[in-house]
Amino acid sequence: MTQPLLEVKNLVVEFAGRRGTLRALDQVSFEIAPGEILGVVGESGAGKSLTGAAIIGLIDPPGRIAGGEIVLQGQRIDNLNQEQMRAIRGRRIGAIFQDPLTSLNPLYTIGQQLMQTILTHLPLTKSQARERAIQLLEDTGIAAAAQRLDHYPHQFSGGMRQRVVIALALAAEPQLIVADEPTTALDVSIQAQIITLLKRVCKQHGAAVMLITHDMGVIAETCDRVAVMYAGRVAEIGPVRDCLHYSAHPYTAGLMAAIPDIDQDREQLYQIDGAMPRLDAIPSGCAFHPRCAHGMRDDCRQRRPELMNAGATHAACWLHQVGSA
Ligand code: SF4
Repeated sequence: MTQPLLEVKNLVVEFAGRRGTLRALDQVSFEIAPGEILGVVGESGAGKSLTGAAIIGLIDPPGRIAGGEIVLQGQRIDNLNQEQMRAIRGRRIGAIFQDPLTSLNPLYTIGQQLMQTILTHLPLTKSQARERAIQLLEDTGIAAAAQRLDHYPHQFSGGMRQRVVIALALAAEPQLIVADEPTTALDVSIQAQIITLLKRVCKQHGAAVMLITHDMGVIAETCDRVAVMYAGRVAEIGPVRDCLHYSAHPYTAGLMAAIPDIDQDREQLYQIDGAMPRLDAIPSGCAFHPRCAHGMRDDCRQRRPELMNAGATHAACWLHQVGSA
């Protein structure tokens, strides 16, 4: 079996507050294989962005990793200091955020920013770095790339800026890209283009992707596997087709039912009743039980289910306990 590129093992993230410690991620585990696209999906507050932030070493105090391990190609990275982590970020892990302006410095041309990243991480001369910057812009579909190097971020549209950010994330040939809602801030008409581009260039450059999104439609179009998160835990994980078509966890099934279907003339989209619990009010037992149509059994209310075998996927749901009726 190929060694996973990334292993997240029993990750716990906590926030210390005046009224005690809140657990925002609770025993989150998953792996990403080299070149694989793993989608991480869930409603707002599920913990998906926090998981991405933990992997790239950007959890701000008072948040902290309180347990578990993050292992990149056999090397533990959750216990590195800030400087060591900075060297990994950019070189081995690239990041793409929702707002392209978070990643771009308005005071420098995009050529300066690309070349600085390339020269910091790769043993290239200035002219080789310039060639590479032009190639990256061409790969991401930016016309007249050589001229565009001299332009500033504000001279690009939102969609073009996100293309530049994708080029920047790939500049040092990272093995993993963490993309957190990379299209949410963009015009709906170009969201699909950017997702297709992200998928294509990451495959072309051999980078695996952790794609964080609230949009099951994006997951269906893009990913090899998906991890569905709920209340700081993984509710279901498995191959995309199986999770989407044979959802083993009632929460996954609810997210699926909420995807708009152009073949069906429905007046209103399905919505899962209720809301994601606040961190200080996570229900006992299965955190999803107050919203679950199947959650009538005592186990659901009293015992927290771990991920268990559920056919082609793994689901944290008592319906899949061996011997469950
Ligand atoms: Fe629903 Fe119970 Fe499964 Fe939780 S464990 S998802 S409440 S059936």
